[in-house]
Amino acid sequence: MKKLIFAALLLLAPVAMTAQTQMPPIPVDEAVRIGKLDNGLTYYIRHNEWPEHVANFYIAQRVGSIQEEESQRGLAHFLEHMAFNGSEHFKGNDLIEFCRSLGVEFGSDLNAYTSIDQTVYRVCNVPTTRQSALDSCMLVLKDWSNGLLLDKEEIVKERDVVHNEFRLGEGPSMRMITRALPKMYPGSKYGVRMPIGLMSVIDNFKPKTLKKYYQRWYRPDNQAIIVVGDIDVDHTEQLVKELFSGIKVNPKAPKVVAEPVPDNEEAIYIFEKDKEQRVNQVLAFMKHDATKPEEKSNMDYLIEVYVKQVISQMFNARLQEMTNDPDCPFLQAMGSDENYLLAHTKDAFQLVGVPKEGRDMETLTTLIREARRVLKYGFTATEYERAKADYLSSLEKQYTNRARITNDAYGNDYRDHFLSNEPIPSIETLYQTIQMLAPNIPVEAVNIALPEIITDGDKNLVVMEWAREADGLTYPTEQDMQAAVAKARAEELTAYVDNVKDEPLISELPEKGAIVSESTDKTFGYKELKLSNGATVLLMPTDYKDDEVVLNGWAMGGNSVYGEKDFNNLKVFGEVIGVSGLGNFTHTELEKALAGKKANADISLSDTRQYIGAHSTPKDLETMFQLVYLYFTNINKDEKQYQNLVNILDMALKNMSLSPDMVYSDSLTNTLYGHNPRYQIPHVEDLSSIDYDRILEIARERYRNAAAFTFTIVGKFDEQQIKPFIEQYIASLPATGEAPDAISDIETLAKGKVKNQFTMKAESPKAVAREIWWANTNYTLENAVKMDAVGQLLSMIYLKTIREDESAAYSCGAAGQLQLTSPQPKLLLMAYCPMNPDKNEIAVRLLHEGMENVSKQIDPEQLQKVKDYMLKQIDIDAKTNNYWVGAIDKMRTNGVDVYHDYKKTVEALTPESLSKFVREKLLSSGNHIEVIMLPEK
Ligand SMILES: [Zn+2]
Repeated sequence: MKKLIFAALLLLAPVAMTAQTQMPPIPVDEAVRIGKLDNGLTYYIRHNEWPEHVANFYIAQRVGSIQEEESQRGLAHFLEHMAFNGSEHFKGNDLIEFCRSLGVEFGSDLNAYTSIDQTVYRVCNVPTTRQSALDSCMLVLKDWSNGLLLDKEEIVKERDVVHNEFRLGEGPSMRMITRALPKMYPGSKYGVRMPIGLMSVIDNFKPKTLKKYYQRWYRPDNQAIIVVGDIDVDHTEQLVKELFSGIKVNPKAPKVVAEPVPDNEEAIYIFEKDKEQRVNQVLAFMKHDATKPEEKSNMDYLIEVYVKQVISQMFNARLQEMTNDPDCPFLQAMGSDENYLLAHTKDAFQLVGVPKEGRDMETLTTLIREARRVLKYGFTATEYERAKADYLSSLEKQYTNRARITNDAYGNDYRDHFLSNEPIPSIETLYQTIQMLAPNIPVEAVNIALPEIITDGDKNLVVMEWAREADGLTYPTEQDMQAAVAKARAEELTAYVDNVKDEPLISELPEKGAIVSESTDKTFGYKELKLSNGATVLLMPTDYKDDEVVLNGWAMGGNSVYGEKDFNNLKVFGEVIGVSGLGNFTHTELEKALAGKKANADISLSDTRQYIGAHSTPKDLETMFQLVYLYFTNINKDEKQYQNLVNILDMALKNMSLSPDMVYSDSLTNTLYGHNPRYQIPHVEDLSSIDYDRILEIARERYRNAAAFTFTIVGKFDEQQIKPFIEQYIASLPATGEAPDAISDIETLAKGKVKNQFTMKAESPKAVAREIWWANTNYTLENAVKMDAVGQLLSMIYLKTIREDESAAYSCGAAGQLQLTSPQPKLLLMAYCPMNPDKNEIAVRLLHEGMENVSKQIDPEQLQKVKDYMLKQIDIDAKTNNYWVGAIDKMRTNGVDVYHDYKKTVEALTPESLSKFVREKLLSSGNHIEVIMLPEK
């Protein structure tokens, strides 16, 4: 039935398309070489040069935790861990060390994930300069596919690591979802196969049980090798054949069969509560069969994807608009058609709402009512025009940037093609096809498809609430939920009316200003324009992304200009401005007016600056400039959106003390800034002193004088094309002729040795440590490079000592930076470690020891790996527009060229010079802040 609808929609397309009697297949992109070995192994190989000189390697398997037997629960994921702990060609930790020697970091570029029905490993951003290194990466894939050693001792060590990962993921959502799953999936393994598994299995399984899973499921006929990047396709294909053809598959090996999710005739009602849950959520799922992989090969599937996407978007826009009504029972709500949570064999149209206090059942009624309203009356033509325009402009953006599609994007596409037969046409084909089809699908046709997605009966309905548990609260019963649904079904409905403001963003254009002078920068080659109103504009056209222009404007001032009575206003400044209107448009009207446009802008304050940031595609450049103009001249009050924001903040902040994470970050900020109220994170009682009018006044003050601003514009644009926009919208901005605001040093990072250790009572014990070492400094490229290197070096050391050797934490790391936000630059090194509570003393000791050791002696080999990584990374970073926005800023503000001498500075690092730097520049300040949270006994 379902396929017929989408096939019928295809009939609306031009004759050329439909003259064929057979549904036309979606052609596979010819630029990827796809093949299959006799043993069933599939491969995808593609030459791609974005980014240049690197390649990505993947192995995807169509098995996961759903294949586990009861005695194996958690072992699919455990096995994934063992893939980094010894294999035929990479013993012990050699794999991680080998990848590091290529500048490939464990955790980011070397990683894997296990989900319910897939397990995917990857080595990414491997430099392609040496063929031997690439060949070794193929060997890594080979080892993963069938060469894991699964050494007994390594298994013992890894039990703790996985247990720590479980602890890290534990929280109210995890607890409730684990309890809810069996009720969501009665009679299906989906209810009892969360990948993290059972700790009783993780702690006690016998190595041979793990081996059994490995041998049974990791086989060529379940695997795909994917290689994308600056590689030789023929050579790679040859290597795949050599390495993988010899692997035999037992003819009696079990087939992977899709796990079904049975229909439910009666509605299912689920209620779960937890003491650490802070915000209630009401959910409704309308289940329907997922599109089968074999049904995704033909053109009607592209229509299906399009129709489902526009339906979700139109539905969401309605829910969003409803929050404008002060009487709306929810703070936020969404609806979309997706997988039924974990299942790939069942989809659901799913509704999620965050109710206002005490209005949970009203929220449920409203969600069901809106679904019924759509089902009865459909969407309007104007709603559809906007959704279609958004869909087409997103696609056009991709198409425009088709020469710059990344290895990551191709890698994910091929993975999804292998695992679930998602189509992989070339972007040209996809773009042309949709361009041809979408305009021929009218809103009536989309409305015809609605009953395939949204249903109005008990069959396949699943209703769920997740709630905060506390003394004195009452909770809905199953009867209450049933009654709330019944109430919606009994209502008489009227059709939705779409109110649209049909006028240009700026009804009367300002008087144009002029470009009064032009010069070219000698270091980076950008053009500097002086405008008639005193503003400065820097232009740097680039080719990094064909679909992106970035604008970043700033002037001195920021938060530092304001004192204590404005602290609470400043803390929510960005959020409040973000829900305000512009020009003659309320926030909602503005969103409607911007449909189909890829342009946005926002303003924000840092300690010492006011910023305006904006993005657009080359096509929507003028809209971007109009938004910038309006932020400077005409932000208007949207009282309804503001009230809704305050309600959301109230809900989010009210029960802060229930969440260990929130309590910890509150303590951290307080300790770090010596309880300076300027930096305290907002509390619920602060909301009463927020003043919308005052926030708008601050915005007007900060953006009243365009002459103080420098606007840097980087990206794909043509100078002659952009200049008229600059004269029209930037040179016309008001300027006062005042001098820029004076900045005082407002930052007060705690000095000396400060330790804050406290305990927190929680449902599942949590222990976290952060160590901060800092010192005042001056800004030089050398200092910045050294801080970055120290952070990376410590991360490596902590991973080895804390996670691998002692199993005292699942994740841990450090980051070093040269902070420029305040008038006095600072060296700041922060180490982070969510600990195993039983081993907190060991973890903290190792955090300290790591730093101490680095200040005395650094292993030259480790440092070399850090340097290799930095040298490779700069080539990737320097091909992004944002990198240049930052580099130009640092050059103009601090006179430091971060680009030209970067590699030289990295190469000059020695173990001695770095140790000395840590000793004499960082630790000598004596500033060391420690914030440790331990569970209450
Ligand atoms: Zn894991």
